[in-house]
Amino acid sequence: MYDIILKNGKIMDPIQKLESKSDIAISRGRIKAIGSFADSSANKVVDLGGAIVTPGFIDIHTHIMENLTYLGVSPDAQLHEGVTTVMDAGSLGPGNYASSRALINNARSTVYTFINLGFAGIPFFMPNGQTPDIPFKESVDVDLLKTVIDQNPEIRGIKVRPGKFSSGELGIWDIETAASVSSEIGLRTVSHVGNPPPEIEDILNALGNESVLTHAFRGGKNSLVDFVDKAKNMQNAGMIIDIGHGKAGFSFESAKYLMNNGLIPDTLSSDIHIRSITGPCKGLVETMNKFIALGMELSEIIPKVTVKPREIFDLDEGTLFPGSSADITVFTLEKKNRPLEDTEGNILYSTEVISPKLTLKNGVFVQK
Ligand SMILES: [Zn+2]
Repeated sequence: MYDIILKNGKIMDPIQKLESKSDIAISRGRIKAIGSFADSSANKVVDLGGAIVTPGFIDIHTHIMENLTYLGVSPDAQLHEGVTTVMDAGSLGPGNYASSRALINNARSTVYTFINLGFAGIPFFMPNGQTPDIPFKESVDVDLLKTVIDQNPEIRGIKVRPGKFSSGELGIWDIETAASVSSEIGLRTVSHVGNPPPEIEDILNALGNESVLTHAFRGGKNSLVDFVDKAKNMQNAGMIIDIGHGKAGFSFESAKYLMNNGLIPDTLSSDIHIRSITGPCKGLVETMNKFIALGMELSEIIPKVTVKPREIFDLDEGTLFPGSSADITVFTLEKKNRPLEDTEGNILYSTEVISPKLTLKNGVFVQK
């Protein structure tokens, strides 16, 4: 007798190389087995009618420190769309990180974080402008940073936001500082790329290979278009290419050019925050829809929101392997011709979009 049996799903779990029609049995919040359970009983049996079943999606670039930072949305904002694990990308720094404990513990979604190198995280992300995360060198306290990382195991990287508005006059000093701490303690530096200065080439050089570059398919100034070979070489040596759609970080033109020239993202992520969740970003599922429209196969997309984040950041989530938490996303692909917008104001029409049907988090059904 199981708690739940999900019958007749098309299961896609990249880690198990499964892509077949099966049933999933769940008990006490965990996946017990995958197979055929026609003769087994459960408290609840749901016939999925051939819908696609994947591990709960993982969004590695979000801002979910709701009410702790201006830009934060709820950690559970995307749960009903199948995003069961989120990573906060540097909303808080060593000086205010402790304020997140109750939020992380109380969220239904599993929360991991990248801690900001700057003392107060992203403090002034205002509609009319922002101040740098690191306005002067004294706003980085490396000893406190190491202590906070030590005390909070959900921290999986150090975030920096080099750019005209976010790192101010300091150029790549923030990347160099984060990279030196990261390599000392075995984490990754996660860097955004914004408007220059600093220039993208200097950002890449300072980051090194044990890093994550987010907003990697941005358009305009500092796009990777002129550095595609350098980026590919660094990716081959270990650098993670992440999407981080957000408010200003995703261009269809860059995406087409970069992918046509062999730069394929390792991970897809939304960069949802208070000003991107309303569009055109909207969230991880809409970002995945844009990659479907760009011609990427679903079998390529799913690993980039499940097993890749799991492997890169050593997470427990991202698989349906028996014994794992029952974080499960069920959806169908629907033929739909609707406009998808990037952050440059360009439109691409969808042919198929993901239609979320059901989410389970720790074996519990999520109500919308
Ligand atoms: Zn962000």
